Amino acid sequence: MLTIYNTLTRQKQEFKPLKKNKAGLYTCGPTVYNYAHIGNLRTYVFEDILKRSLLFLGYKVKHVMNITDVGHLTSDADTGEDKMEKGAKREGKTAWDIARFYTEAFEHDIAELNILPPDIYCRATDYIKEQINLIKKLEKKSFTYITSDGVYFDTAKFPDYGKMANLKNQELKAGARVDMGDKKSPNDFALWKFSHPLLASPSGRGRKPEPTRQMEWESPWGVGFPGWHIECSAMSVKFLGQPFDIHCGGIDHIPVHHTNEIAQSEATTGKPLANYWIHGEYLLTGNDKMAKSGDNFLTISTLKEKGFDPLAYRFFLLQTHYRKQLNFSWEALEAAQNGYKHLLDAVANCHPNHGSLQGVAQRSPVKMGGIDKNNDAKISQKFTSILEDDLNLPEALALVWDAIKTKTISQKTLFEFDKVLGLGLAEAIKSQSSPLPDAVAVLLAQRNEARARRDFKASDELRAQIEALGFEVKDTTQNTQVTKR
Ligand SMILES: [Zn+2]
Repeated sequence: MLTIYNTLTRQKQEFKPLKKNKAGLYTCGPTVYNYAHIGNLRTYVFEDILKRSLLFLGYKVKHVMNITDVGHLTSDADTGEDKMEKGAKREGKTAWDIARFYTEAFEHDIAELNILPPDIYCRATDYIKEQINLIKKLEKKSFTYITSDGVYFDTAKFPDYGKMANLKNQELKAGARVDMGDKKSPNDFALWKFSHPLLASPSGRGRKPEPTRQMEWESPWGVGFPGWHIECSAMSVKFLGQPFDIHCGGIDHIPVHHTNEIAQSEATTGKPLANYWIHGEYLLTGNDKMAKSGDNFLTISTLKEKGFDPLAYRFFLLQTHYRKQLNFSWEALEAAQNGYKHLLDAVANCHPNHGSLQGVAQRSPVKMGGIDKNNDAKISQKFTSILEDDLNLPEALALVWDAIKTKTISQKTLFEFDKVLGLGLAEAIKSQSSPLPDAVAVLLAQRNEARARRDFKASDELRAQIEALGFEVKDTTQNTQVTKR
C-alpha cells in the first residue's frame, strides 16, 4: 500500500487510483528558453522516482509532460516579457528555433540522468485550440473579464481560490510586488494576453499596428497568446481526463501556477483537477534557491565539464528525501561521486544470483556459493515497504548498503531495486567487466557441481573444456576464478 504526502490535504495519504492498478500522472515540464539548471532537474528526478516506484509496485502509468514554448512571462504574475521571445532576442534566432533547441537539450539532460521519458510530451503551441475552448467555457460561466491587455480570471468569483496554498486571497501574494495593470485583484491571472494592448474600439482588440511578437494566434478576444497556466489545465485534462490521479511539480509552483491551474479547471467543471498533488523541495546553493539568472546557474554540462558523472548527481539527490531542502556544494557532490563509485564496486563484487542458481556465473571472477534466497526475499519486502512510505529513498539506499556489507543480497535483486533507483547499476558493471560467454558459464556451473560432489575426474575434464575455449581456471580457498587468457 503506497502512502504519499498530498499537498492538498497536507498529510500522507494512501494512494487510491481512479482505476485499479493504473496511475495517470501529469508533471509540469520546462519552459524551453534556456537550459534546465540542476535545481530544475532535482524536480524531474523526484518525479522519475515517483513514476519508477509506481511501476515497481505494479501500476500501469500514463505520464504526460508539457513543454512550455509560449506564454510564460518573466514574472510568474503575468507581467514582463515572454521568456521565449526574450530568448529569441538574446540568441538572434526565432522563438520557434529557441523552443526546438532547448526542448532537445532538455530531452538530452533527462536521458543523462536516467529519467524515463514521459509517454506523452505536449507542446503548448500544439494545443492553442484546446486552450481557447477552455477560456470560452470560463467566459460562459462568467469567471473572466477583459482588460486593456488580456482576458483575466476573476478570482473573486471562485471562493475556493488558494485552497491548496492554504492562504486567504489577500494573503496569497503578501509582500510580493504585483503590477496590477487593469486587474481587479492581485491574484487575478491572465488566460489570454493580447499581442498589442486593446485599441479604443472593441473591434480593434488585439489589432497590432506593427509586428511585436513572433508567436501569436487569432482568438475570439483578439490576436494574442495564452497565459502560462491555461496550457497545463487544457492539456492534462485532454490526455488524462478530469479528475486524474497525480499532478506533480516543484514546490515553487504551489502559490501561483498550481493554484491557478486548480482555479480555472475546477471553475470549468466543478470537479477536482487531480486527486493528489505532490511537490518536490528546492535545491539550494548557500541560502538561495537556484535560478536561471545569477552566478549559481549550473547545468548538467557544467557538472560534466568539472568531471562529474550525471548519475553521481542523481545519486547525490537520492540521498535526501524529496520533501527536504537540499544544499548543493561541490564538496558534497564530490563525496556523492565517491560514494557512487564505491557502490558500483561493491555491487560488482556481490554474488550474481541467489542460491538456487549457484554457479551459473555471469562475470569473472566467479564466486562459489549463492546468497540465501529467503534473505534476498526479505530484503526485497523491506525495500518495497520503505518505498511505500512516501518514497523514502535515503532509507532505501541505507538498506542497500547494509545488505551489501553483510553479503546478504545478490546482484539480481540489486538490479531489481535499480528499476527504482535508476543508477544504471547493471550497465555500469557490464562496462566494468566483460561477462563470461554462455558456453563457459554453463561449463563452470557443471564443474562447480562436480566439485561439490567431489567428482574430481569430471571436474578436471570440465576444466580442460573451459581452457580449450581460451579461459583460465583458478581455484582458491574461497572461490573459483575464471579469466580470459
Ligand atoms: Zn503546469
